Amino acid sequence: MPADGDLAEAASVLRSGGLVAFPTETVYGLGANALDARAAARIFEAKARPGFDPLITHLADVADLVPLVGPVPPAVAALAARFWPGPLTLIVDRPAAIPPIVTSGLATMAVRVPEHEHARRLIAAAGVPVAAPSANRFGQLSPTRAEHVVRGLGAAVDVVLDGGPSRCGIESTIVDARGARPVVLRLGALPVEELAKVTGPVTVRPGSSGQPVAPGTLAAHYAPRTPLRLLAAGGPAVGGAKAMPAGLRRGYLAFRDRPAGGWAAVELLSAAGDLTEAAARLFDALHRLDAAGVAEIVAEPVPETGLGRAVNDRLRRAAATWHPAG
Ligand code: AMP
Ligand code: MG
Repeated sequence: MPADGDLAEAASVLRSGGLVAFPTETVYGLGANALDARAAARIFEAKARPGFDPLITHLADVADLVPLVGPVPPAVAALAARFWPGPLTLIVDRPAAIPPIVTSGLATMAVRVPEHEHARRLIAAAGVPVAAPSANRFGQLSPTRAEHVVRGLGAAVDVVLDGGPSRCGIESTIVDARGARPVVLRLGALPVEELAKVTGPVTVRPGSSGQPVAPGTLAAHYAPRTPLRLLAAGGPAVGGAKAMPAGLRRGYLAFRDRPAGGWAAVELLSAAGDLTEAAARLFDALHRLDAAGVAEIVAEPVPETGLGRAVNDRLRRAAATWHPAG
């Protein structure tokens, strides 16, 4: 837990237009005052994030939503009441108080109340909504530890708050619930099955070709520097040492079972076969494999259910960087 003084100082950095990386239960965020266009611009600069990829605005409390954006559609209100604070991002109309740079010029705004106590206390202390994408350079692995932020963004950030490893480890689920049937724009830490219990059937739009509505859904994203190859679901067992070209060091990302020998580095997502644990460890495991000095990372998909859908979505995009046709 950061000392109260550290939180107060970080809050004052936010208010004065600075960048603060902070822990959330999903991944670490790179925050700026969402009411300040220049502060928001610094986020895009620090991340080398293209201007067309809008930011999520974070609030300290559910009660802060309507005062900022005005009345919201009933399904949006119901989802906020049920899942906030938590890893659900909702789409609302952009209020006039939020400068267009935050939403990349869209008439809509993505908004969420994070559950992590440091995040909520920071935002409350800042007294402003906080625009925060994941605290990584654009397209790269998301940070689930403070050290990932320091390694990836370093001096571009004014303050990094360390809140330990992120509990969910995967980004928020983004839902547009303004229409008759909710649309999932990005699979994430809140499983679609949980949403559907509240809203009834939902449509999942995992990828967007052409003009991206949610660029976190671009084909290539969440990628390690090392080329990543994703095995087919239910495919043949992976080759061990014999199948491996001599001299090529490769890393392996496994779901629950350790692969047969010969790998230079192996990461197990969950020996118990638990998808919540697998999601929580995904980016951390990829960060470690990326640092292991291997020429290629081979990953196996996890079961395509619950949080497994979001995990596989991230793995497909990480692999897409290197296999654009796939
Ligand atoms: P990040 O916080 O880095 O995970 O990125 C935020 C994600 O939210 C990106 O995929 C954005 O495209 C998405 N997003 C932000 N604002 C909107 C919006 N108004 N409509 C749809 N998606 C959005
Ligand atoms: Mg991101």
